[in-house]
Amino acid sequence: MRLPRFFVPPAAWERDRATITGRDYHHIRHVLRLEAGAKLRLLDGDGRVYDAVIEKVDRGALVAVVTGEVPAPPEPPLRLTLVQGLPRRDKMELVIQKATEIGVTGIVPLAAARAVPRLDRKAGERRVRWQRIAVEAAEQCGRSRFPLVGEISGLAEVVGGLPAGAAGFFLWEGEQATTLKQVLRAGPPRRDVYLFVGPEGGFTEAEAARARAAGLVSVSLGSRILRTETAGLIAAALVLYEWGDLGG
Ligand code: SAM
Repeated sequence: MRLPRFFVPPAAWERDRATITGRDYHHIRHVLRLEAGAKLRLLDGDGRVYDAVIEKVDRGALVAVVTGEVPAPPEPPLRLTLVQGLPRRDKMELVIQKATEIGVTGIVPLAAARAVPRLDRKAGERRVRWQRIAVEAAEQCGRSRFPLVGEISGLAEVVGGLPAGAAGFFLWEGEQATTLKQVLRAGPPRRDVYLFVGPEGGFTEAEAARARAAGLVSVSLGSRILRTETAGLIAAALVLYEWGDLGG
C-alpha cells in the first residue's frame, strides 16, 4: 500500500527531523490513526522526497525522522501557468485540484472584467484555502512539487509580468483563424507556457485587444463553447500532452 505523503514546509524541518502539526497532524493521528513507528513519506516542496518514521507523538505535534531519500517522480518538462478568470467559488477549487493532477506548475486567479466574485475582503483567506487544495492534490497524485497559487491579479499585471521567452495563449472563443492545435504543432515545445482563460462571462473585446497587443496568441479550442472550468483544464491537458509528459 502507498505510504501517506505530506509536504512539510521548510520551517518545520530540523536536519533529519520534521515536526508535523495542524491538519496533517490531525489526519495522521485521527484519520489514519498512526502511532510512533509508523512510516510516512515526506516531501520538502523543493522536489526532494524522503521516507520517514514517526519518532515521537505529543498533543498537537509529532516528530518524524528521515530514514532515507527516495527518487522523486519527474515533474513535467515545461512550466505551465494557468491564468484563470475568477469563476464562482466552488469552480475555482475544482480547477485548482484538477490542474494540479494534470501537472500545471502555477495558477493565477485572474480578476477579469467580467469575473463574478468580488473577493477583495476575503482574497487572502480564499488564497490560503486554494493553496492548500493544490498541496493536497499534489500529495494525492504523487507529485514531488505542488503548484503555487498566486495573488488575485489583473490582466495587465499578468501580461506585463510574463517571463522572457514564455508562450502566452489567450483562449478566445471568437478566434477564427488560429487553433491551439495548430500552434502546438507549428513549433518546438516551449519551457514556459501561460494559458489565459476567461470567466463565465468571457473576456471583453478590450481584454482580447490588450492581450494581442502584448504578444499573446489568441487561440480557439474549436466550435463548441466550453465552460470556464472546462476550457482551462482541457487546454492545459492539450499543452501538457503535446509539449509535456501527460499521456506518458
Ligand atoms: N463567450 C462565452 C459564452 O458565450 O458563453 C462565455 C465565456 S466561456 C464560458 C469561458 C472562457 O472559456 C472563455 O472566455 C474562453 O477563455 C474559454 N473558451 C470557451 N470555449 C472556447 C473555445 N471554443 N475556444 C477558445 N476558448 C474558449
